Amino acid sequence: MPGVFVADLLSDTVTQPTEAMRRAMAEAPVGDDVFGEDPTVVELEARVAGLLGHEAGLFTPTGSMANQLGMRLHVEAGQEVIADSLAHVLRAELGAAAVLSGISSRSWASVRGRLEPAGPLGLMSVGAGPYQVGTALIVVENTHNFGGGTVQPLEVIREVRSVSREAGVAMHLDGARLWNAHVATGVPLADYGREFDTVSVCLSKGLGAPVGSVLVGSRELMERARVWRKRFGGGMRQVGILAAAGLHALDHHVERLADDHARAGRFAAAVGEVAPSVVSPGAVETNIVMLDLTETRWTPTELVDAAAARGIRTYAAGPSAVRLVWHLDVDDVGTDAATEVFSDLLR
Ligand SMILES: *Cc1c(COP(=O)(O)O)cnc(C)c1O
Repeated sequence: MPGVFVADLLSDTVTQPTEAMRRAMAEAPVGDDVFGEDPTVVELEARVAGLLGHEAGLFTPTGSMANQLGMRLHVEAGQEVIADSLAHVLRAELGAAAVLSGISSRSWASVRGRLEPAGPLGLMSVGAGPYQVGTALIVVENTHNFGGGTVQPLEVIREVRSVSREAGVAMHLDGARLWNAHVATGVPLADYGREFDTVSVCLSKGLGAPVGSVLVGSRELMERARVWRKRFGGGMRQVGILAAAGLHALDHHVERLADDHARAGRFAAAVGEVAPSVVSPGAVETNIVMLDLTETRWTPTELVDAAAARGIRTYAAGPSAVRLVWHLDVDDVGTDAATEVFSDLLR
């Protein structure tokens, strides 16, 4: 619940809309978006498409829906999508690609979600005729959530793209936190975006909007995606009220992601000093810190509970991992408090 914690590091989805964002939402001109008549949604879709170097965009209620539409566009029922074994599309979308679209999947192993060319290129299967499942799509996640906010190097993406394009395999970017990759590296959003057939981005993570994602691609692909969005139950009406939050976030909350990265880095440096096996500061690239408890006496749940009792909310992310995520509702005071609590507990 908002306000209960000194620092709520559970996720970058827990932010409260700012007063200015609420005003922008209240004042947004709206229309029926199923008829394409909401000017605020039209503006948001065009703006995000432009930022990412694509022709057209489609506003969706969730990042999962944007990813599911992206996969649906490229993969026929019975074909496969491939992604790394920690990918959100495989781990956290509850099998939707299989359930809704008849898509099968395989994955490659990765360290912290980092893309290496051999991962997708060694796994993809093309031209196997009627004998093996054909790979239709590679999904790349940037930054990588369960990998711990890992940024994917542009050269590696380009290498994968040049080989897979030759083989006729499409690429989709799960860019829920692409904003963080852009701010951390200075690589223009469009330089990432242009390497993919479709890209999804979230407005409700670090950007601090209450709801919403955008899928971008060619005009033709977005026309098809619009049909499937309606079929999936995602046709929305006067939804400019939400798109306005996204536009406001693009104006005011992108560059400030650097503050989140700096605070996460400061936390990791301090905690890494007292507990080097738990976090290495070099591993923190953006706003996510993963604590590795393998060499401690803590289980993730015990550590999460102990920190919560002292006002710091975090997330048990696996059998030996705790995740902390910085966002616009965690300031220096919250960061200092979290640093003190975790240094204490892990010392
Ligand atoms: C949050 C997230 C999504 C989308 O999640 P929704 O809760 O469906 O909006 C997609 N990919 C990644 C990597 C995410 O972190």
